[in-house]
Amino acid sequence: MKVEINELVERYPILQQVMLKKPVLWENPDCKREQLTFPVKGVDQDIIEDATERLRRFKPLLQELFPELNETNGEIISPLTTIPNMKEVLQNFYNTKINGSILLKRDDLLPIAGSIKARGGFHEVLAFAETLALDHQLLQSKTDDYRQLSSEKSKALFKQYHICVGSTGNLGLSIGMISSSLGFNVTVHMSQDAKKWKKELLRHHGVKVVEYQSDYSVAVEKARNESEGDPKTYFVDDENSIKLFAGYSVAARELKNQLDELGIKVDDQHHLYVYLPCGVGGGPGGITYGLKSIFGKNVSCYFAEPIHSPCMLLGLLTKLHHQISVQDFQLDNLTEADGLAVGKPSKFVGELMEDLLNGIYTISDEELLSLEYALYDNEKIFLEPSALAGMKGPVHVSATKENSGSATHIVWATGGSLVPDSMKQSLLTKGKLCIKEEK
Ligand SMILES: *Cc1c(COP(=O)(O)O)cnc(C)c1O
Repeated sequence: MKVEINELVERYPILQQVMLKKPVLWENPDCKREQLTFPVKGVDQDIIEDATERLRRFKPLLQELFPELNETNGEIISPLTTIPNMKEVLQNFYNTKINGSILLKRDDLLPIAGSIKARGGFHEVLAFAETLALDHQLLQSKTDDYRQLSSEKSKALFKQYHICVGSTGNLGLSIGMISSSLGFNVTVHMSQDAKKWKKELLRHHGVKVVEYQSDYSVAVEKARNESEGDPKTYFVDDENSIKLFAGYSVAARELKNQLDELGIKVDDQHHLYVYLPCGVGGGPGGITYGLKSIFGKNVSCYFAEPIHSPCMLLGLLTKLHHQISVQDFQLDNLTEADGLAVGKPSKFVGELMEDLLNGIYTISDEELLSLEYALYDNEKIFLEPSALAGMKGPVHVSATKENSGSATHIVWATGGSLVPDSMKQSLLTKGKLCIKEEK
């Protein structure tokens, strides 16, 4: 389809700012609040229960495969922590007042994959392994001991199958690590943004890595082509996968339990705001879906995207979703936030978010790096640049919403624990410079 950019800019004036790479805040006029009902656009809440149960069945096996999961008995969960100094840092940095308290959801600490992708990625590969195991009588039923799936017999079965995926880096890490540990053959098609250390780590684990000098959409296309017509190749489709989405949605229940443990209320008087970095949309979309199913109108979810890659904003605003790309708007899709360097959003997630998402804001690389340095300097927490996108959320909300003194803001930290020390140093040095230039 041919998109008339001029017409779109006329209809949606915010696009002028977007094309000039000015950070914007967009409130979704179609977001359903009181009127929200499930299923949303045909997607039933059962997917959350189904994924929760599947991950529970696999706990013993995961614990056996990955000793680092001993602490959580095989559960893929991350801490929710306070960041006591950041509120003041943000207030000073953006010269504004923030109401309510700010918490950090540490998906950067998720085991094995070191990012939010551990949630969706593991779930999808485990679902495929489970289906194979049941079909081939390696498991008689879903109540069997799943540790049998680490046997030589199971590995011999999984070895006959091939898993492939396109990625900017982190999804590849997640899919690669879990697939190779189960014995699958696995190929990751990496976009130009993917960091060298991520490719090296995967190769070290026996994963085949194919590199492209083009962006994420091309890497996904190549992976899709590789799988076509081959019944023994399974393609993890980051642009459309309900299994990935369901895996991410489970995080909402985890968060609910953690809020309960901390005695933090979410009700008509105590609003919850959640800020999620967005690439193709599956991760933040799944979590938003899960949170809305639990908290309804008492939670507001915002996505955060780099000014160079605002694909979900373009897709949702125009409702053209994957039919348009950031390149159509003369944006280059080049950003330090490699996990968010995506030019076209997921159609499936975009359509769901029409009803669910409260808004989207964009953020510059300079802000991401400054916030990265500030978080490290004040809280001794290191995150990868993508994972800082949510940090500006409380600034936007406090500027536009009244009565949010009793609000809780959750900044979703989506990755970073596997970044090598030398890279951490160079990112922090850049961040420190950005702060100086700001001043
Ligand atoms: C992938 C990723 C995201 C966004 O997830 P999508 O499903 O692509 O929207 C955010 N942060 C990091 C660090 C990621 O790797």
